[in-house]
Amino acid sequence: AKRDSSKQVHYCDENIMNSINRRERIIEILKDKIAKQSFELYYQPIIDLKTGKYDFAESLVRIPNSSLGPLYPNEFIPIAEETGLIIEITYQILEKACEFINHLSKENIHIKSVHVNFSAYQFNESNLSNKVIEIIESHHIPLSKIKIEFTESTIAKNVEVVTHFANYVAQKGIRMGLDDFGTGYSNIATVIGIPFGTIKLDRSLILAAMDNEKSAGLVKNITRSFQDLGCSVVAEGVETKEQNQFVKDCQIDFVQGFYYAKPMPEKDVIEFLKHNT
Ligand code: C2E
Ligand code: CA
Ligand code: CA
Ligand code: CA
Repeated sequence: AKRDSSKQVHYCDENIMNSINRRERIIEILKDKIAKQSFELYYQPIIDLKTGKYDFAESLVRIPNSSLGPLYPNEFIPIAEETGLIIEITYQILEKACEFINHLSKENIHIKSVHVNFSAYQFNESNLSNKVIEIIESHHIPLSKIKIEFTESTIAKNVEVVTHFANYVAQKGIRMGLDDFGTGYSNIATVIGIPFGTIKLDRSLILAAMDNEKSAGLVKNITRSFQDLGCSVVAEGVETKEQNQFVKDCQIDFVQGFYYAKPMPEKDVIEFLKHNT
């Protein structure tokens, strides 16, 4: 038994070493990508269920090739946050999203806005609002073409700063979207102080609704409540016909999910939107 446990410890050490090593290598990759401004963005179209047109697209960062193979945001975004690298990465993503909007206009495609994800850490930046406005204006696009997505937990971490930022930039025209409703605090009141145009229901809520009547009723009520407050509701992660029927029954306004469109590289999403706007 003694032998076994020492073996286990050794195995465990190796695992920890490997993950530290991987983390260090990801940090190097992120720094290199920042220096080269070479993050890739995919875009996932969001459909208006009433018109069948795609009004929005969410930008989702990708590292398709690295010395570690493809890397996914669920792994590298937390590392970017812990190291503070996320702040510069977000500005670069915002730049790229603005360039994308200009590419769309050139193709005569006009969607309402492109969504950019903001982490809680972004709000530690003292000059955030001016920097964001400056970046968008430098691309000569209306501020309303960008929607900033953030979550309730981001709000909870710094209610005052986030509320002030959101109200200031919203008054200038930038749009706000609440992300992942239904995962954390899920308190409709948290959201009232912030001028959200859209509320995105997390995929887990839709999945739960397919599973039981109570959750389904909850999703209907949440949707109604937000709509009564003047927000549009987006359902995230709709993959099946049944889920799509459910969100239609709930009179949810918009859908983002594989059922309609996956996140795509810029070239592909431009082709897609040409035929669907
Ligand atoms: P999120 O903001 O909730 O983004 C939606 C995620 O759901 C995306 O994963 C998208 O590909 C995925 N998704 C969309 N439709 C479906 C569906 O029908 N089924 C399933 N199973 N998944 C679907 P992705 O791109 O891997 O991003 C994961 C998370 O990483 C994002 O969750 C967001 O929190 C973060 N992230 C991605 N890009 C950025 C970024 O540019 N900045 C920051 N700060 N975070 C980002
Ligand atoms: Ca998002
Ligand atoms: Ca989301
Ligand atoms: Ca989500």
